Amino acid sequence: MNKPLIGITCNTTIIEGEVFTGRGRTFVNSDYVASIVRAGGTPLLLPPVLDEAVIKAQVESLDGFVFSGGPDVDPLLYGEEPDSQLGVVNHERDTYEKRLVQLAGELGKPMLGICRGAQIINVACGGSLYQDIVKLDACTIKHMQSSVQRDALWHSAVIEPASKLAAVLGEHKLLVNSYHHQAIKTPAPGFAVVARAQDGTVEAVEREVGPWTIGVQWHPELLSANHASMLALFETLVREARGTIA
Ligand code: MN
Repeated sequence: MNKPLIGITCNTTIIEGEVFTGRGRTFVNSDYVASIVRAGGTPLLLPPVLDEAVIKAQVESLDGFVFSGGPDVDPLLYGEEPDSQLGVVNHERDTYEKRLVQLAGELGKPMLGICRGAQIINVACGGSLYQDIVKLDACTIKHMQSSVQRDALWHSAVIEPASKLAAVLGEHKLLVNSYHHQAIKTPAPGFAVVARAQDGTVEAVEREVGPWTIGVQWHPELLSANHASMLALFETLVREARGTIA
């Protein structure tokens, strides 16, 4: 297939202020959709579901996955009590995506995690997070970008030269955007930290052995239209997805 099917995880909300007030809604920002199209894939939105057979059917029918940005991951999933600075948690989405990461991994499907997506992949595979990096003494950079232009670059990141990520980006140091107050604390077993901000904050992890899996703390979907290295993340996911199709 020339245009591999790429599932994009979604957020959910309760509708307010219109005729369906109180009902649930599933959605994702259009930049993710546009980035997959731009990269040559076929984007499909993945609503969070809790039925194991349905999750399995989703994974079997798709060739690759983007775990999108969103709310904080439930700290109980990595053995911590909720910190006072923890943000909104969507338990349904966490439960669903944790299982999706595991099943996609078992079936050898490639995945790209973005912001919360990198965090849920890390937690699903046994790693942990900082619930609020702002409180850390070591965190000396503002990681919640305050640009008027949402597609602006914000801070630098240094990439591990021997990593898969460096091969994708073609650079060992670059500027990224930054819209997060949490970050990866301990990488999951089998994962390596492959990018850091100047203050040491983890900006990317990747799976060392197994299906192609990269998680970035920044938002390449906001940059893929104007930055070839950011588009390359989506293009590589699509290429890897194409490679898994028998
Ligand atoms: Mn950052």
